[in-house]
Amino acid sequence: MLLFCSLLQIFLILLHHIMIYDFYYIFFKDFINYNKLFNFSAEEIFIILKVIIHNFRLTMNLSKKKKRNIIKIIKNRIKKKYIIEQLYGNKCHICGEFDTKIHLRTFDFSHFNSKKKKIDASSLFDTKSCSEIVKTLKDEVGAYICSNCHSVFDMEYLELINEIYDDKELIEKIKTDYHKIKMKFTAISDKMINNVKDPLKKTINITGNYKNYLFAIYYLSNQGIDITKKSIANYLGVDYDAVKSFFLRHRNFLEKYINFPYGNPTIYSLKIKGLKLISEIEYFINFYQTFQLEECINCNFNVRKKCIANSSNQCSHPIIKN
Ligand SMILES: [Zn+2]
Repeated sequence: MLLFCSLLQIFLILLHHIMIYDFYYIFFKDFINYNKLFNFSAEEIFIILKVIIHNFRLTMNLSKKKKRNIIKIIKNRIKKKYIIEQLYGNKCHICGEFDTKIHLRTFDFSHFNSKKKKIDASSLFDTKSCSEIVKTLKDEVGAYICSNCHSVFDMEYLELINEIYDDKELIEKIKTDYHKIKMKFTAISDKMINNVKDPLKKTINITGNYKNYLFAIYYLSNQGIDITKKSIANYLGVDYDAVKSFFLRHRNFLEKYINFPYGNPTIYSLKIKGLKLISEIEYFINFYQTFQLEECINCNFNVRKKCIANSSNQCSHPIIKN
């Protein structure tokens, strides 16, 4: 009994820790849970994520490598939420209590038989797309369930139950709970994975700063200036040749957002899709520039809502530190 109590305590402390300190989820949940998220293409999601990381004061001064890593972590959270919702809806399919919007971190992939576990589900997210992840998980035989249900559905723990408890009634109750979960447990099937697409898989590599170009065109048109390569170059403070080469290299992608009419010089304008993307980007810039964290309010390195901390001895926040 004593052993169980201490194990339970450790579990609860860990759960508490996980729920409170998943700061990647806490800070970026408004984007992860954005109801229009999957109206965006994978490329647009990536562009907006980059903008968020560049405008949020706790991440804006980090190195390129750290920024890339944070974007990857956020994308992994989005993948996990998307996969669970496509397979099971937004609640734990066993208890119906925990939901993916508030408790995403408490969902785990649970093997039907933990002794046959070959792969740790979380190791798949960095390199695989959503449809690839579910194919692999289907072969593992298991389901996404909340950690409450997972803790009861732990085979090894069930085998020890007679040694942990003396109370026969309690043992029966735990066994009943276990069997209830087992009955409801729906392992990922071929049919279920048909619903899972790849909303985060980019078809082109986003290397350039698309956001700056879209915004340049937007501001120039608001000022009534003809939008040519020259005026864009002036506005962005770059060479004419840099603009020319950007348009050449990225024309296929840019044509979704910008009109490329014939003319000498070409006078560009934004398509409705371009204006819509700019308005979404502006929404998230504004949201993350003004996102208040209690721990930052009285910090010396928080100047006009901008974090000027750029090393770990200035800010103790784990996002800066790691
Ligand atoms: Zn549950």
